[in-house]
Parts: sequence; C-alpha cells; structure tokens
Amino acid sequence: MKQAVEARSGASAQGAVDGARSTSPAPPYYLPCADEVQLFEQCHANQLAVMLKGPTGCGKTRFVEHMAWRLQRPLITISCHDDLSASDLIGRFLIQHDRTQWNDGPLTTALRSGAICYLDEVVEARQDTIVVLHSLTDHRRSLAIEKTGELIHAAPGFQLVVSYNPGYQRMLKDLKPSTRQRFVALDFNFPPAQQEIEIVMQESQLDRPTCAALVGLAEKLRSFADRGLAEVPSTRLLVATAMLIARGIPVKRACQVALVAPLSDDATLVGAMHDLVDLSF
Ligand code: ADP
Repeated sequence: MKQAVEARSGASAQGAVDGARSTSPAPPYYLPCADEVQLFEQCHANQLAVMLKGPTGCGKTRFVEHMAWRLQRPLITISCHDDLSASDLIGRFLIQHDRTQWNDGPLTTALRSGAICYLDEVVEARQDTIVVLHSLTDHRRSLAIEKTGELIHAAPGFQLVVSYNPGYQRMLKDLKPSTRQRFVALDFNFPPAQQEIEIVMQESQLDRPTCAALVGLAEKLRSFADRGLAEVPSTRLLVATAMLIARGIPVKRACQVALVAPLSDDATLVGAMHDLVDLSF
C-alpha cells in the first residue's frame, strides 16, 4: 500500500486536521487569473464538489491551499495513484496491542472534521476507488463504512475537490461521465503572460526583466507541443528556473537543468529547445 496524504490546517503546515482555524499569518500566495476565487467560494457555500482541470504545474494545488486559507478550513491532500484503494481513503482495522482497532483514512478524517479534501490527479485512482466518492457529492453528503457499520454525515465545511490533467494519458485514462457530472469543473491553464511574470517574480524574488524573458521563452517552448513534446514547461518549472538564477546559477545553465531537461529525453527536441534558450538570453 502506497499512501501519499498531507494534512494542513488552512495555510499552516501544522499537520493538524482538527483545527478549523488557520494560525498562519499570511495566505499561501495565489494570483487569480479570472473569476475562480468567487466561483470556488460559491461552490463551497453551496456544498458543491469541485473539479480543477488543467495541465500539471499551472497552479491548481496552490489555488486549493489558498482557498482553504481563505475559507478557514483544514485541508487534507491525497495524491492519487493506481494502487490507491477504497480502504486507503476510508480507513481500516489495524492490529494494535493484541486487538484490532479502527483507523480513519484521510477521507473519513476530512468528513468528520469538516475539512476540504483534495484528491490530486484523481484520474490515477482506480474506478472502484473513485466510486466511493459518489455519495459525498450529492444530497446525501454521507459515507457508509461497511466494516464498522457506521454512516458518517459530512461535518459542516466539508468539501470535496479533485484535480485532473485532461491532456495527460487522455486515451488511457478518463473519468466516467457518471463521476464527472458530480462536480463543478473549473478550467485552469498557464496564467496569461503578465500574471505569470508577477508569479515568477513573487515566488523567486528574481528581477522583472529576467522573469519576463523566462516567460517569453516558456511561451515559445509551449508551442513545441505541436512537435511532439508531451508536457510543456509549466509555471512550476519557470519558478524553479528563476529560483536557481536568483541564487546565482548562470541563466542558460539554469534553463538547461530546470526548464529543458525535465521535459524530454529526445535529443532532437532538447537540442531545438536549447537553441531557443540561446536566442532568448
Ligand atoms: P498544479 O497543482 O497545477 O500541478 P501547483 O499549484 O503546484 O500546480 O503550481 C506550481 C507552482 O506554480 C506553484 O508552487 C506556484 O509557485 C506557481 N503558481 C502557478 N500559478 C499560480 C498562481 N496563479 N498564483 C501563485 N502561484 C502560482
């Protein structure tokens, strides 16, 4: 059993899931790109589950962290993978001191504590795991735990949020229509250039002209999707590149290791991307 679960209280990385109030003085930095903040607030107020759709590294997780802080809810994050079972989400009996004891899984903990439960890359999970979520996304807002006979009703404030990258392995993996229709879907993409420059500056503390040049380069590199590049450079990669530059790594070297090399092993594509780096700096 692999499990990747992170629990945070709002913005604070306390690991606590029982405190609804965030103790963090500052919100996780998030620059809105459209009306996503208002839409999410309304979904939360109306107990609607939300699906964040968009490429990797475009700000979905940061957005949820920011919204949890804004709404003053604990945040429990679950990174989905193809081994994730329903028990990993709900809980299981474990042997402790010669007797078995029930241990809540992260989904159950979120239900009881009124947390925002964020399932990152939900499409990676098996269908029989995803089906567990259905009763939580309609009027029932409840979860029946067969093994204990308990029916748990979601505490006020509980909200289910999933993320999903529609471009990735689209032919192999997709969500069933019966699952998709249970969510309000917010489309995410890489931020518009001016916003992306602000984000990269804020996150790396690098100067504006270099950040602007990096964003310009990323826009050109993103057109390589037409030439067979499976994943284009994300805002996350830009931030990492800018951080290296801000800490003294030469610009072209930082672009090589943080912007180009993570994207492809194809020598022709990598060579063409390096040429663009040389033209940009
Ligand atoms: P995703 O969950 O979509 O894979 P993340 O939320 O982890 O991506 O975003 C990657 C990084 O990009 C963040 O850590 C943050 O530095 C930056 N980022 C992207 N979009 C924004 C935004 N709108 N506001 C602030 N930071 C952003």
